Amino acid sequence: MEAVLRNFFQFLAKNKRMNQWAKKYGWHVGARRFVAGESIEQAIVKIKQLNEDGRSVTLDHLGEFVTSEEEARQFTYMCVKTLDAIHAANVSSHLSVKLTSLGLDISPDLCLNNVENIVCKAQEYQIFVRIDMEDYSHCQMTIDLFKHLRKTYDNVGIVLQAYLYRTDKDWEQLATIAPNIRFVKGAYKESDEVAFPNKADVDENYIYLVKQHLLHGQYAAIATHDEQIISKLKEFLVEREIKREQFEFQMLYGIRDDLQKRLVDEGYRVRVYVPYGTDWFGYYMRRLSERPANVWFVVKNVFK
Ligand SMILES: Cc1cc2nc3c(=O)[nH]c(=O)nc-3n(C[C@H](O)[C@H](O)[C@H](O)COP(=O)(O)OP(=O)(O)OC[C@H]3O[C@@H](n4cnc5c(N)ncnc54)[C@H](O)[C@@H]3O)c2cc1C
Repeated sequence: MEAVLRNFFQFLAKNKRMNQWAKKYGWHVGARRFVAGESIEQAIVKIKQLNEDGRSVTLDHLGEFVTSEEEARQFTYMCVKTLDAIHAANVSSHLSVKLTSLGLDISPDLCLNNVENIVCKAQEYQIFVRIDMEDYSHCQMTIDLFKHLRKTYDNVGIVLQAYLYRTDKDWEQLATIAPNIRFVKGAYKESDEVAFPNKADVDENYIYLVKQHLLHGQYAAIATHDEQIISKLKEFLVEREIKREQFEFQMLYGIRDDLQKRLVDEGYRVRVYVPYGTDWFGYYMRRLSERPANVWFVVKNVFK
C-alpha cells in the first residue's frame, strides 16, 4: 500500500493540471506544514523565527513546469528578487535553485546565463547559492553547469544523491574543484537501472559518501532527517576530530523540528531548507511520497 501511495504522489508531483488546480484551491490542505508561505514577506517572517532559534536557512523560491524562455527569465527575476529580500532583511539565509526552473530543459546556454545572473548577484550580497539536484535525466547537465560556474564563483555549491549508482564517480570528478556538497538520499522516482532499489544500500552509500568527503577536508551539508545516520556520523566526526566548521546538518522546513532544535542545543550548525511561493504543489507531493503517513495531516486539514 505504501509503495502505491508513493508512486501516486510522485505521479501527482509531475502533473501540471493538478499543479494549476492546487494553486487555485489547495493551500489549506496541509501544504503550509512544509511551505513557509506564498509570498516572500511570509517567508522572511519564518526565516527570522528560525534565525532567532539559532538555525540558518536556505530559501527556495518554488517553481516547476517552466517551458518557455520567457518563463525561465521571469523565474530568474524572482530569484534575484528573493536575494534582494534576503539582503534587505539582513537574515541568515542561502538560496537554493533548481536548474529546470531556470530553463535547463529549454537550452543549457539560456540556463547558464540565468543561473550566472543569480550567482553573480548573490556574490555581491555575499549569499551562497546551492544548486539542487533533480531527477536522473538532469544529473549530468547539472554537474557540468556547476563545474563551469565553479571556475568563476566560490559562492556556489551542488547536491549529490546517495541513491544513484553513479554518485561515487561524480564525487571523484568533483573532488578536484573543492566543492561544497549537500548530500541527500534522493527524492525522485528512479529505475533500478540507475538507483539502488533497497533503502539499506542507499543509507550505506550515504554514510560512505559523507565520510569520504569530510576526510578529503571538504565542506559537507549533511541533509537528512535520519536519526540513525546522524548518530553514526556524529560518532565519526568525534573519532576523526572533524571541526564543526567543516559541516552542517540540513533539514526541511516542517520536518523533525525537535531534532533540528536538539542539534542546535548540542552546538551543531543547522540549516533549514525553506520553500516558498505559489508553485508549491510538486514540492508538497514529493514530501508526501517520502512518507505517506503524512497523508493523515492532509485528511485532518480537509475536515478542519
Ligand atoms: C535540506 C535538504 C535538501 C534536499 N535537497 C534535495 C535535492 O536537491 N535533491 C533531491 O533529490 N532531494 C533533496 N532532498 C530530499 C532527500 O533526497 C530525501 O528525499 C529526504 O530528505 C528524505 O530522506 P531522509 O534522508 O530524511 O531519510 P528517510 O529515510 O526518508 O527518512 C528518515 C526519517 O525522517 C523523517 N522524514 C523523512 N521524510 C519525511 C517527510 N516527508 N515527512 C515527515 N517525516 C519525514 C521520518 O522520521 C523518517 O523516518 C533534500 C533534503 C533535505 C533535508
